Amino acid sequence: MNIVERFLQYVAFDTQSAEDTGKTPSTDKQFNLARFLKNELETLGLEDVEMTDNGCVYATLPANTTDDVPVIGFIAHMDTSPDCSGENVKPRIVKAYDGAPIVLNEEKSIVTTPEKFPELKAHIGEDLIVTDGTTLLGADDKAGIAEIVQAMAYLLEHPEIKHGKVRVGFNPDEEIGLGAKAFDVEKFGCQWAYTMDGGELGELEYENFNAAAAKIDIKGVSVHPGYAKGKMINAAQVAAVLAAEFPTHETPEHTAEYEGFYHLLHIEGNVEHASLSFIIRDHDSARFEERKTFVEKAVAWVNAKYGEGVATATITEQYRNMRQQVEPMPHIIDIVLDAMREIDIEPKVRAIRGGTDGAQLSFMGLPCPNIFAGGLNFHGPHEFLPIPSLEKASRLVVKIIEMTARGI
Ligand SMILES: [Zn+2]
Repeated sequence: MNIVERFLQYVAFDTQSAEDTGKTPSTDKQFNLARFLKNELETLGLEDVEMTDNGCVYATLPANTTDDVPVIGFIAHMDTSPDCSGENVKPRIVKAYDGAPIVLNEEKSIVTTPEKFPELKAHIGEDLIVTDGTTLLGADDKAGIAEIVQAMAYLLEHPEIKHGKVRVGFNPDEEIGLGAKAFDVEKFGCQWAYTMDGGELGELEYENFNAAAAKIDIKGVSVHPGYAKGKMINAAQVAAVLAAEFPTHETPEHTAEYEGFYHLLHIEGNVEHASLSFIIRDHDSARFEERKTFVEKAVAWVNAKYGEGVATATITEQYRNMRQQVEPMPHIIDIVLDAMREIDIEPKVRAIRGGTDGAQLSFMGLPCPNIFAGGLNFHGPHEFLPIPSLEKASRLVVKIIEMTARGI
């Protein structure tokens, strides 16, 4: 079976995850793909194939050399985003893309244009897998699954390529931030692993934000407005003053690359009570600490101005930058960069402006950089997957396994 056929099999399964169902996996339908993959991996001839009660699938490609090679793993997620339907996906292949707008759905006039989606321009001449405009495609992250499975099939057919033990893991619920929670790092038993869950060809990510949430509560004092002089503390007014104290240019809409921010997610209030919810993000851990201190200082300033106890802040850590877990093991990045160069992929190392399952896994003891899966415009009907990127990602998996055994 070729990799495109493999990918198309997977997108036929609706595996949309859902927030707040209280279950793992969050939706039962994710089990359908998990079961299918378990069978497929068994049929291919992998060992220790297992589907767990929480919807993870694990398998082993046994070593075919007696050399001492580190055990490494490849991970992809089975679910698709709750933001867009993944039911009844009808993929279509655009042959030798000519650079013109792609009509996804004539009837509903849904068109992917290179003006709106400039990523398309890098893929002129290539075959692209697109949607019919009514669903997402699911290349995030079924492309990753197809790349890993295809690489396993290839290595089984090519025993002349010597390799150590390789583990494969597919998890549910990445899109709702709970993929790592379902994942059993100990059972996986790898020295390090890679998630195949990035976008554009060549992407490699091992840095993400340090992240915290800050909730600020403001207690006001309500008095009849006609007689309020010197008595009233208007919580809503205080909230507005406090929000204005935050640096106006350190916000998501004014920052890029390694610039961190404060993001006011929510503000509400009346005279008696007000609350502000911020998220705080920074790649640099020292600057991240400074940002948290800034929130505390801003609250202290409000209290000095309006009275002790008017404002209180609760700061909760959300996730940390995986860089600190990956940096002590530079070879796990070097292997990927060398493997990319060997198969003519230009590496694009990027810092993620968000978090990943890999970041959580890294702090659970499994250093786990993220590699491109090839798809673009995730989480909506304009998602597309250039077939050459899909094929190259799978070749990269093979190459990384090969080079790990070579001990570079
Ligand atoms: Zn993904």
